[in-house]
Amino acid sequence: ELEAARNAASSDNLRSPICCILGHVDTGKTKLLDKIRQTNVQEGEAGGITQQIGATYFPVEALQKKTQVVNQDGAFEFKVPGLLVIDTPGHESFTNLRSRGSSLCNIAILVVDIMHGLEPQTLESMRLLRERKTPFIVALNKIDRLYGWKPIANNGFRESLGLQNKGVQNEFRDRLEKTKLAFSEQGFNAELFYENKSMAKFVSLVPTSAHTGEGIPDMLKLLVTLTQERMTKQLMYLSEVECTVLEVKVIEGLGTTIDVVLSNGVMHEGDTIVLCGTDGPITTQVRALLTPAEMKELRVKSVYVHNKTVKAALGVKITANGLDNAIAGSRLLVAKNKDDEDEIEELEEDVMGDLENLMSRISKT
Ligand code: GDP
Repeated sequence: ELEAARNAASSDNLRSPICCILGHVDTGKTKLLDKIRQTNVQEGEAGGITQQIGATYFPVEALQKKTQVVNQDGAFEFKVPGLLVIDTPGHESFTNLRSRGSSLCNIAILVVDIMHGLEPQTLESMRLLRERKTPFIVALNKIDRLYGWKPIANNGFRESLGLQNKGVQNEFRDRLEKTKLAFSEQGFNAELFYENKSMAKFVSLVPTSAHTGEGIPDMLKLLVTLTQERMTKQLMYLSEVECTVLEVKVIEGLGTTIDVVLSNGVMHEGDTIVLCGTDGPITTQVRALLTPAEMKELRVKSVYVHNKTVKAALGVKITANGLDNAIAGSRLLVAKNKDDEDEIEELEEDVMGDLENLMSRISKT
């Protein structure tokens, strides 16, 4: 019976959404990432969170545990198999994670410091999100800095707020209203998440503290809600590979490698791949698909595990010949037939079509 249930769930055939974090410097992006990765051993929360190349993977079991305080009755249903969160916060990772003008980030968390409101890079982030039509939620972070805030570690926000004194509640409302007004001046209508009647019309604001962990269960639940309500089509599992180069890195003993995010499809060792290079297209064979070794595997000589096959969504390191001139941000395509010269040529033209865009970004940074 259990087996049947599992099959039913997988018949939805959704892949894990990919999430980016962006926002102004010092709003707490890094701290929020650290906090959601942290596992609570006392509460038996191991959950299988795995560190990947450039990203952290949260399987649905981990998400269920982390959202338990705001889903006591279990009424909220998870349909996605998990969530892949990109580790590098900020615009760069977001603008790099693109394909054909659309972002490979399916959803984003825009972090705003509740004490500071909207700042220059917040506006820049909003512009990018609008341009790419990326659904996002706003983490209104550092609520523990509201004067007199009494924290309850890792609690749901609504309950925590209810337990504060009137003065704290008033200051919160005041800052919330100011933030909503600032968002509307930017052309976004925003609502406190549990007062939001339509995620299609309003951006949800979720108050958080990366220090106390309050609001983080709400934030994760909201991310899953947003993906499930708004983007099941984009999350249908495809056989076609969608893959983007995050970073080009020289690693001792491996030569030049590329760290990629495989956002859809399956890749195999030996696949013929095509990507963008500074000296023209690069066509090469995948020598190895590497993922970080888990702690228990670390005593074996390598920090990486070799995979014959990898399936989206995940971050993976690729080794291959000829990657020296690879460009970060490039799409990576896989040839169906490595001996079909016409196909290879088509793929090469395809990836090089992005070059102008990529180069203008490189010259700007
Ligand atoms: P980033 O530049 O957006 O990645 O910001 P960081 O995560 O590096 O945080 C910037 C500073 O704000 C650090 O000193 C953090 O300790 C602090 N900080 C981050 N989140 C919170 C929070 O929720 N509450 C408080 N009080 N401080 C925070």
